[in-house]
Amino acid sequence: MLIVKKFGGTSVANKERIFNVAKRCIEDYREGHQVVVVLSAMGKQTDVLLDMAKDINPKAHKRELDMLLTTGEQTSVALMAMAMDSLGVPAVSLNAFQVAMHTTSDYGNARLRKIDAKRIRYELDNRRIVVITGFQGINKYNDYTTLGRGGSDTTAVALAAALNADACEIYTDVDGVFTADPRVVPNARKLSEITYDEMLELASLGAGVLHNRSVEMAKKYGVQLVVRSSLNTNEGTVVKEDNKMEKMLVSGVATDKNVVHFAVEGLENKPGVAFKLFHHLANHNVNVDMILQSVEHGESQDISFTVTEDMADIAMETLERHGDTSLKCDNIKMVKDVAKVSIVGAGMMSNPGVAAKMFEALYDAGINIRQISTSEIRVSVLIDEKYAEPAAQAVHDAFSLEE
Ligand code: ADP
Ligand code: ASP
Ligand code: MG
Repeated sequence: MLIVKKFGGTSVANKERIFNVAKRCIEDYREGHQVVVVLSAMGKQTDVLLDMAKDINPKAHKRELDMLLTTGEQTSVALMAMAMDSLGVPAVSLNAFQVAMHTTSDYGNARLRKIDAKRIRYELDNRRIVVITGFQGINKYNDYTTLGRGGSDTTAVALAAALNADACEIYTDVDGVFTADPRVVPNARKLSEITYDEMLELASLGAGVLHNRSVEMAKKYGVQLVVRSSLNTNEGTVVKEDNKMEKMLVSGVATDKNVVHFAVEGLENKPGVAFKLFHHLANHNVNVDMILQSVEHGESQDISFTVTEDMADIAMETLERHGDTSLKCDNIKMVKDVAKVSIVGAGMMSNPGVAAKMFEALYDAGINIRQISTSEIRVSVLIDEKYAEPAAQAVHDAFSLEE
């Protein structure tokens, strides 16, 4: 069997953990399997590097940031190969350049395009464990790129697809995918399995346990994932194609504090206004979410939406620049301390009343809803950030998702 095993930052945070991971990989190797290991940077090293950069130049070029961040993963793979070697097993570490993992050019948010499997195959055929840097790639200029925070999961899935692996295991610091972040909702329950679509929604809505693009890619290439703990041998969660007859009404609750709310007030009430507004934002690569256009009041109307925190300043600058001239609005309001709480479940499609039940739970908890958005298998509400945890807990309880 060819097995891809990915270990996140906490799983390789120190010497003891590195040896723990090395031993788990060696077990598979000794059983005769081919083992490809994908690693994140040790512990919080990516944050440490980002702080160092900010201290030197808060407006550092993204190319240089990626050059810096890729050192985090490079450190962990080299140390891992050394640990395996010290345990008597041949291992080789490879970075994105050495493998040749080609990505698009956008530094900080690149997408994988093509992985060259030749070098990896060569090393595997020579019975080495291959330890590969997660999160990074190279672009057409031969510069390093990164795939966005949490992107090592995507590297692992892409490698599993490119190598046609028999298994892709994502090891982390919790036992699997839970009905809510177990650090926010202590009585959350571990799911034994979840569909790609549900996992994709949860990951996109703030459940950081998997990078959303890794789930997108797993679905596209039919890579079945297992999410489990690197610290114990408990069974994890299988992420796979939908095959259950009975769909879960609600399979999980996700919380996302990385949101900022904008209200653009007093816009002209005529065709083309929404187009102009979102066109300006798109031109500056600002992704918007939860769009709401208010009921018109006479000559004017309001439009509100959310963006991620890193985009808030660019969004504000863009809106201010165009506020008087092309948009002609009266006022732009930005609120940073908001959070999005969402429920996800494939069974919602055929069950009316799910949204009402969520709103009732929030009402009972005395939590006000600022904005609502829905899809076929999701309901999201925007609330004050200070209520993020009680809201997640209240909604989780209302749907009896606890253990
Ligand atoms: P890694 O470094 O292994 O990639 P991450 O920190 O990226 O780990 O992801 C694991 C974390 O995801 C957990 O510690 C947990 O707090 C968080 N998390 C958020 N939502 C969920 C969920 N629904 N199920 C499990 N973990 C979740
Ligand atoms: N080290 C990177 C990060 O912290 C990538 C990852 O861990 O997946 O975002
Ligand atoms: Mg992660």
